[in-house]
Amino acid sequence: MIQVGVNGYGTIGKRVADAVAAQPDMTLTGVAKTRPNYEAEAAIRKGYPLYAAIPERADLFHEAGIDLAGEVEDMVMTADVVVDTTPSGIGADNRDLYERYDTPAVFQGGEDADVADVSFNARSNYDLARDDDVETARVVSCNTTGLSRLLTPLIETYGVEKSRVTLVRRGGDPGQTSRGPINDILPDPVTVPSHHGPDVNTILPDVDIDTLGVKVPATLMHLHSVNVTLDASPSAEEVRELFGDEPRLFLVPEETGIDGTGKLKEFAMDTGRPRGDLWENCIWEESISMEGNDLYLFQSIHQESDVIPENIDAVRALLDWEDRGTSMATTDETLGVGL
Ligand code: NAD
Repeated sequence: MIQVGVNGYGTIGKRVADAVAAQPDMTLTGVAKTRPNYEAEAAIRKGYPLYAAIPERADLFHEAGIDLAGEVEDMVMTADVVVDTTPSGIGADNRDLYERYDTPAVFQGGEDADVADVSFNARSNYDLARDDDVETARVVSCNTTGLSRLLTPLIETYGVEKSRVTLVRRGGDPGQTSRGPINDILPDPVTVPSHHGPDVNTILPDVDIDTLGVKVPATLMHLHSVNVTLDASPSAEEVRELFGDEPRLFLVPEETGIDGTGKLKEFAMDTGRPRGDLWENCIWEESISMEGNDLYLFQSIHQESDVIPENIDAVRALLDWEDRGTSMATTDETLGVGL
C-alpha cells in the first residue's frame, strides 16, 4: 500500500484525501491543517488523522477540542508521497521539508512550473513522472488539465496546427466569499496571451496555442470556447467518436437539455456525485463542429475537481507503481469517473 499524506486541506486537499482513501492500493497517512475550522471538524468526523501544518498553532486545535496525530513533519516522515495542496506559492516554501525526508511530492498548478521535476497530466505525459530521477511532479491547473486532455487525442490522431482558446473563468470557488467580480466582466488578463497557453506548453511543448482569459461573476465552473486547426479534416462525427473513447471527456448529450454549467452541476448532484463534482471535461456534443480543418467546441471545466484523478495518477507515476492505463482505469473506477 502507498502511504499518502495530504498537506493543506482546502478545496483541492479535501477532495484528494477522499480520493486517496478510496484507492485499493493507497492509505491516507493523514491531512495537515493550519487551523481548527469546519474543514478540520469534517476531517475528524471522517476519521482522518489530523496533523498541525504550523506547529506553533497546535494549541489552537487543543483549545478547540481537536486531537492531533502530530505535526506536519511526522506526516511527511511516515508518508511514501505527500500531495501538497496548499495555496499558490506555499508549496514552493514546503519543498525543503519534503526534500529533508526524501519524500516524493505532488504539487498543484498554482505553483510555478519549476517547483517540480515535471509538470503532469496523466493522459498526456504519465511516463515522464515514472523516471527514476523524477521525485516531484506538478499537477497542472484545472484549465491546463482540461486543455491537455482535449488536445492530446487530437494531436495523436490528426495533428494540431494551431489552437485558440478563450477561457471564461469563474470569479471564485463557492466557498471563496472574498473573490469577485460580483457585477462585471473582466478581460483577465487584459494582455494576450493569458498564462494558460504557456502552461499547456509545460505538458505539450510542441503545441501552438494562444489563450485569452475573461473573468465573470460565477462560481460553478469555467467555460472554454475552443478553436483547433487540425492537420486533417475529419467530420464532426469522427471527432465526437474520438472524444467518446476518452473516459475523462464527457460529451454532454443534446437530449439531456443541459444548457449551461448550472444544470451540469445539478446533474452531478442528482446522480450522487460527491460534492457535485465533475472530474471530466464537459464538452457540449452539439457544439463540436468542423469547418474545413477547423474544429470548434465549448467545454466546461469544474475547477474544484478535474485535477483530482490526476493527483491520484501522479502518486502512482512518481513511485512507478503502475503503468498509465492501469492507474487511470483504477482511479476512474474507484471514483466513478466517466458519465
Ligand atoms: P484553498 O485555499 O481552498 O486550500 C488551501 C488550504 O491550505 C487551506 O485550507 C489553507 O488554510 C491551507 N494552508 C495555508 N497555508 C498552509 C501551510 N503552510 N501548510 C498547510 N496548509 C496550509 O486552495 P485550493 O483552491 O485548494 O488550491 C490549492 C492549490 O491547488 C493551489 O496551487 C491552486 O492554484 C491549485 N488549484 C486550485 C483549483 C481551484 O479552483 N480551487 C483548481 C486547480 C488547482
